[in-house]
Amino acid sequence: MGRRPGHAKGHGPGVSQAGGGGTAEDAGGERSDATRLVTAGRRREWTGGIVNPPVWRASTILYGSVAELRAAGHDTHHRLFYGRRGTPTQWSLADALTELEPGAEGSFLYCSGVAAIAAALLSVLTPGDELLMVDSAYDPSRAMATGLLARMGIFTRFYDPMVGGRIADLIGERTRAILLESPGSLSFEVQDVPAIVAAAKARGVVTLLDNTWATPLLFPAIEKGIDLSIMACTKYVVGHSDAMLGSVTAAPGRFAALRDTSFQLGQIASPDDAWLGARGLRTMGVRLAHQGASALKIAKWLSARPEVARVLHPALPSCPGHEFFLRDFKGASGLFSFVLAGGSDAARAAMIDGLALFGIGYSWGGFESLALPVDPQKHRSVNRRDDAGPMVRLSIGLEDPDDLIADLDRGLARFAKT
Ligand SMILES: *Cc1c(COP(=O)(O)O)cnc(C)c1O
Repeated sequence: MGRRPGHAKGHGPGVSQAGGGGTAEDAGGERSDATRLVTAGRRREWTGGIVNPPVWRASTILYGSVAELRAAGHDTHHRLFYGRRGTPTQWSLADALTELEPGAEGSFLYCSGVAAIAAALLSVLTPGDELLMVDSAYDPSRAMATGLLARMGIFTRFYDPMVGGRIADLIGERTRAILLESPGSLSFEVQDVPAIVAAAKARGVVTLLDNTWATPLLFPAIEKGIDLSIMACTKYVVGHSDAMLGSVTAAPGRFAALRDTSFQLGQIASPDDAWLGARGLRTMGVRLAHQGASALKIAKWLSARPEVARVLHPALPSCPGHEFFLRDFKGASGLFSFVLAGGSDAARAAMIDGLALFGIGYSWGGFESLALPVDPQKHRSVNRRDDAGPMVRLSIGLEDPDDLIADLDRGLARFAKT
């Protein structure tokens, strides 16, 4: 859906590479992420001179003649062919995501993050293969492994998120791929990605990373050697809790299989949702910076509270893999968990129920703060967790962090009283 301009061939009429929209490549120089977020994907032939690429909705594409229809051929890259192959609205966002991952070949969009994970895995795995999946993976990724993949004869082994280079001991004859997620869902273990990538490359094993938490702005996954970088764009890219969207960005040599698999699965993100994603992307840098700073302030405040046993925030030493966070990440986003010091499920509910500024709901990465009771042990099979009390996950939004702290302060008082 969005190869780097340098890889593109066979542009249709009116789809030249010399458009004034501007990419880092045609400017011939390195731009910082902040600047790329503004310029990426805005080719003039797609925007028509409008600042934001408009919504191109289509199923049928009309050709001028039978000869033109035949001449169109089947290389549909950045070429209007049929609605399922996309329009400039989706190509623009896919290209922008590719530009944000230094070294990437191309990106494909999906109707959700889970659809992106499925397509990425299916582009690599064949019946009889083995997949190694991190034990702290997003629960629907686990469900995909134990459900769909198992039915297809693909066997999954779960591994300790802190395995690091010892992953080499788990790689067997049939191991074809390793799924990483760093930090892990709910419990935020930061993985030693370079060590795992090195072990995988030595054995010809493909690495896939769910990079939803960091985005390429905080962890440029392809540059770090990952083969397929997956994002639930539903979270920080869309950023406003009003659309579902996923993406996979591929390292060189991995895009063709990803695109073919996605086409065969009939995958397409709607132009309207892609447009919302592109709109969100422009402000993702400033949102992440604000939300990241607020979340860290709140995490530090929580870690000094007697009602809190442990804060699981990658930028704090109390989080497993903190040293890898310091070494590999450019910063933290706005999602973390904390463990209460003892207390019951009812006490946790009393704390969360009375919060005035935090919504109670799934998903995260929007402009508004959320609080969620989480129980990671239900979704683990490798290690038993030994948490001191119930756990709460917070997604910090764009509110004033001091207002959020005051809200949490009253929440912890309710928890202590229950
Ligand atoms: C939400 C989420 C997903 C799935 O994204 P959807 O768009 O909800 O399907 C995948 N991975 C992680 C880490 C997530 O938090």
